[in-house]
Amino acid sequence: MNPVHQARKRFGQNFLTDKVIIDKIVSCVNPMVEDNLIEIGPGKGALTDLLISQCPKMQALEVDRELVQFLKKKYSQYKDFVVHEEDALKTDYANFKFGDKLRLVGNLPYNISTPLLFHMISQVGVVKDLHFMLQREVANRLVARPENKDYGRLSVIIQYHCRVVPLIDVPAKAFRPIPQVESTFIRLVPHQKKPEAAICEQHLNHIVKGCFQKRRKILRNSLDCSQNELKLLDNEIDLFQRPEELSVADFVKISNILYLNREYNQ
Ligand code: SAM
Repeated sequence: MNPVHQARKRFGQNFLTDKVIIDKIVSCVNPMVEDNLIEIGPGKGALTDLLISQCPKMQALEVDRELVQFLKKKYSQYKDFVVHEEDALKTDYANFKFGDKLRLVGNLPYNISTPLLFHMISQVGVVKDLHFMLQREVANRLVARPENKDYGRLSVIIQYHCRVVPLIDVPAKAFRPIPQVESTFIRLVPHQKKPEAAICEQHLNHIVKGCFQKRRKILRNSLDCSQNELKLLDNEIDLFQRPEELSVADFVKISNILYLNREYNQ
């Protein structure tokens, strides 16, 4: 690698430099030798240095070819370490699951953190836990409850699948180059048994997406359904509410009622 590697904006490269924060992050992750640990976007190895010393058979996904070459050399004494030149947005995580479920860790590139979260959550069945650095605004959306301004599609879908635990607030000055935003390091733990289960998760995604595309409208006007379906829903849900007032359980209820009715009428 060029000794003065220029951080690439298009890859969202803000490298962690604060040793105290790095230590705190790795102790939150608490990697074990036997873990099936995958780091997303190791960059120059700020987190990898500690992660690999505790879990030498970890793997990493990095999209920047120059950094991949650098990491291969840097960790060449770790014979089981593999760094894949790969776009984490396109990764099929099931390919990495030999035996134990995956532990995913990453200081995620800010420019793609939301699509990355949706991509990973779509494969959450092979994941034990996820530890991510996110811009504070995205972390707030993950934990937001109904009637909060940050509550939206991301909150509902992530909370449907996972328990969300904010761990460390990280100031912008912990990174180089210094980003415009503050960050929060969070843990996501997939529910072993979902508190409320959708009969069809694809249908739930569709309903939630549709509702929040018209978030200022009441449900009666934002749900894409027939008069008969509205009548069915009316027995169970107050249709004069806006999407931001509904709990995850409410969305699941709506999705299940509509899904069963649509299946029945097919
Ligand atoms: N982990 C390092 C650290 O904390 O200093 C780097 C973090 S930096 C915010 C994000 C890293 O993700 C960069 O190394 C970048 O090249 C990599 N990256 C960006 N987009 C990616 C993608 N789609 N798939 C895999 N890695 C990606």
